[in-house]
Amino acid sequence: MAMMLLAAGRSLRSILHPRLAGAAAAFSSAPSAASAAAAEAERTIREGPRNDWSRPEIQAVYDSPLLDLLFHGAQVHRHVHRFREVQQCTLLSIKTGGCSEDCSYCPQSSRYDTGLKAQKLMNKDAVLEAAKKAKEAGSTRFCMGAAWRETIGRKTNFNQILEYVKEIRGMGMEVCCTLGMIEKQQAEELKKAGLTAYNHNLDTSREYYPNIITTRSYDDRLQTLQHVREAGISICSGGIIGLGEAEEDRVGLLHTLATLPAHPESVPINALVAVKGTPLGDQKPVEIWEMIRMIATARIVMPKAMVRLSAGRVRFSMPEQALCFLAGANSIFAGEKLLTTANNDFDADQAMFKILGLIPKAPSFGDEEAPAPADTERSEQAASM
Ligand code: SF4
Repeated sequence: MAMMLLAAGRSLRSILHPRLAGAAAAFSSAPSAASAAAAEAERTIREGPRNDWSRPEIQAVYDSPLLDLLFHGAQVHRHVHRFREVQQCTLLSIKTGGCSEDCSYCPQSSRYDTGLKAQKLMNKDAVLEAAKKAKEAGSTRFCMGAAWRETIGRKTNFNQILEYVKEIRGMGMEVCCTLGMIEKQQAEELKKAGLTAYNHNLDTSREYYPNIITTRSYDDRLQTLQHVREAGISICSGGIIGLGEAEEDRVGLLHTLATLPAHPESVPINALVAVKGTPLGDQKPVEIWEMIRMIATARIVMPKAMVRLSAGRVRFSMPEQALCFLAGANSIFAGEKLLTTANNDFDADQAMFKILGLIPKAPSFGDEEAPAPADTERSEQAASM
């Protein structure tokens, strides 16, 4: 973009009256007061992803003027991804409620009275039927969530889930699981069964984390991510905003993710869905501007990641969601429910895709690099920037 403007400035000067040319020169050389978002986006485009981000660097990107941050998030997004493509994932709760953990935002914790009824692991037919429906509705990734602390000591259930993974992978879908903490051997078994990705969110910054969960540590979470990475499974890890954290905590979360040995393949950005009965039941809703700031910062500091506009999307209007896609989000959860809370209506999402010119992203298997945007998209991109 800067190059295009420079080139335009030069050719303008060559055809203008000398006095006007002087004014044009003054315009093109006016101090640009480039924001950190502009500088880091340009560096990301030039040098590619990096894992040596300092926290102040990410804070400076995050603190950039909002429209500038949005613009440069869009710039990185269009450089790295096919910008019209949006991944559709369906998340199904295969084992609901009765969880021993104390995550303050979660209606599935047995410690809070939210009226949620605990259920056993769903049977194979029901899970496969849900996956089939999700595929027919356009989802390419099927994610199964189980409300428990860890998979250790759950051999029968775990073996059942391995079966589900094999079957759903056989249907031509990417498969993801979120089953709490897992050990290295379990990660390896999931990989062998055909698992594409494992979700394990860090939720918030290391400093704020003890305010949200006390029953497992931040390092426990990082340990699970390490097991997943070592097994060769893609990592899906992000967090939630609106937990009462400070902006520095949002930056802290992004900093931890962006300095992992490899950036997560997917980074879900969730806006808290406050559920009555949980300790965070009265939190005030997150503003769209806060989501845009998180998404654009995540896009600039982790350029190749699928940045997922996740929980809380149901509260945002189509124009608000459009700004999130522009800022760099390229993945959503599709389907009526997100584990136990409401999600966007299927027909409304289809209408949104049509109006915004979005297209579903095809599934991707194996470890190949994401293809560069097609030349045609680069041209569209140049024309529209
Ligand atoms: S977020 Fe997961 S681990 Fe925490 S209480 Fe809910 S189901 Fe349990």
